[in-house]
Amino acid sequence: MAHSVGVIGLGAMGFAMASTLMKAGFDVSGADLSPERRSAALRAGVAARDAAEMLAAADVVVLSLPDARSVRAVLSGSRALASRRAPLAVVDTSTSEPEVSRALEAELAALGHGFLDAPVSGGPAGAASGTLAMMIGGRPEVLAAARPVIDALAQKVVHAGASGAGNVVKLINNMLVACHMVTTREALRLAEASGVDVGAIFAAVNGATGRSAVSEVHYPAWVLTGRFDSGFSSGLMRKDLRLAIEMAEALGVRTELARHAAGLWSEAASGLADGEDFTRIARSALPETRS
Ligand code: NAD
Repeated sequence: MAHSVGVIGLGAMGFAMASTLMKAGFDVSGADLSPERRSAALRAGVAARDAAEMLAAADVVVLSLPDARSVRAVLSGSRALASRRAPLAVVDTSTSEPEVSRALEAELAALGHGFLDAPVSGGPAGAASGTLAMMIGGRPEVLAAARPVIDALAQKVVHAGASGAGNVVKLINNMLVACHMVTTREALRLAEASGVDVGAIFAAVNGATGRSAVSEVHYPAWVLTGRFDSGFSSGLMRKDLRLAIEMAEALGVRTELARHAAGLWSEAASGLADGEDFTRIARSALPETRS
């Protein structure tokens, strides 16, 4: 049974996952390029180590990094992985690229190690409560080895298929979220123009067929309250939507609506800088939240 877990990337998600794993009884250490993130983790009881140290010694390593490039930078050509004898299971919870996941899985398998692309949904709150949804690509035996760690982090686990399948599912999920954010914004503008109360719209739609996680969770929790603090950035949302569209293009699949949504999500059209919370895309939907 996995006992020591290394978490690489201690941002909004990685920090919350490290805390959850500690609460579940694992011996957790963490690495991040940012000294501020390392200090914050240390204050929460997560021992700060080098990424290479954890790749050499931990039973399971969890990655929570911004993108495929940073995942590759941590794993590809790693001397720690090449010289390590005992097989390691790497659980990459970053939203990454299917092709990069497949290449890393093959590279690690050649060294006797396992790699799962295991992106998540549920945000920092889901990570902090161990209730994430996780979509997994990779070999069943690697999933079995990492299962105790995965079960501590996620409530809903779907093994979507071979390596890369987890990221395919995640990019499709976030393409839907990006579209739902802007279609729900339009719905609210229409409600306002018609003089119908916003509360009535959500009460009705969330009990009817037009609902989505965005209408059930995102708008009530982060838009209507004016908090805009979901913990997911506009820059990451744009990245996911771009990757979903690129994946569709590579496969020759038409995604007219997603392409139009990408225009609305652009920095120029939305006025949102990369670091701003992605729920701010909806700020112009209601008079009291316009800014
Ligand atoms: P974040 O920017 O808050 O955290 C990423 C962390 O990785 C940063 O602290 C950064 O310093 C660190 N980092 C970058 N390169 C590194 C490297 N080479 N070595 C070590 N540390 C490195 O991002 P986040 O919101 O925590 O998201 C992490 C991943 O999870 C992303 O891929 C994102 O798309 C995905 N995700 C985020 C959410 C959310 O709601 N925030 C939800 C689901 C999935």
